[in-house]
Amino acid sequence: MKEAIEKLQQAVNESSYIVFFGGAGVSTESGIPDFRSQDGLYSQKYKYPPETIVSHSFFMRRTEEFYEFYKDKMLFTEAKPNAAHLKLAELEKAGKLKAVITQNIDGLHQAAGSKEVLELHGSTLRNYCMSCGKKYDGIQFIMDSPGVPKCDCGGVIRPDVVLYEEGLDNSVIRRAVDHIARADLLIIGGTSLVVYPAAGFIDYFHGKHLCVINMSETSRDSMADILIQGKIGEVLSQITV
Ligand code: NAD
Repeated sequence: MKEAIEKLQQAVNESSYIVFFGGAGVSTESGIPDFRSQDGLYSQKYKYPPETIVSHSFFMRRTEEFYEFYKDKMLFTEAKPNAAHLKLAELEKAGKLKAVITQNIDGLHQAAGSKEVLELHGSTLRNYCMSCGKKYDGIQFIMDSPGVPKCDCGGVIRPDVVLYEEGLDNSVIRRAVDHIARADLLIIGGTSLVVYPAAGFIDYFHGKHLCVINMSETSRDSMADILIQGKIGEVLSQITV
């Protein structure tokens, strides 16, 4: 692993357009479980798999059950950015990293100071009324609402996250793909790369170095010239800017 981290350091040193593409594994070191690790949400016992519960049809049909799961397992009021979020923000500040493209919905990249964050799946920190469109920022309001959060107008409030069966925002896709196509170093980390269309965007990368940092194998490991199997916070904290 030491040798691979040295290779990553060298690639960081010689790159001027670094892009990071990540997923739930980036936030596990902040105490937020992912979906597919051994202690992720898939291995916990629920009546339905998480993908079913956080789907559009489930939300519409069983809004109360959706919110039970969502408040219990997907909102983390105490979570703080970890070493991975902080290093990526530092790389951006130094002008090396141009964008963080994330499948996460926890807002921790922005909390760490990252500016160009493309949230492919939206954010739990933004909510809106499905009837009148009124916006409700933050997660405390949702946590404090008993059952289904309701707007002043009586409408149901929903999180501004992309549920399964829903489409991604086209302008976010365009910006993400544009960054990936320009990157000289693409770092992929903390993602199982099984959620589409998000995982397909990395096909637009034609730069010099592809680095994959993940605890378990991914479908892109064979394409990476720098492959690091380990915890992303521990790995990135060893990189100097
Ligand atoms: P995933 O659960 O499918 O995969 C996570 C991957 O990260 C796994 O391969 C795991 O081995 C790896 N991993 C876990 N901890 C790691 C660490 N410390 N360092 C390096 N690798 C680590 O997650 P996904 O690919 O992002 O897809 C799941 C979907 O669920 C996404 O769409 C995402 O929006 C959503 N989700 C988001 C959050 C969040 O916002 N924090 C949490 C759970 C799920």
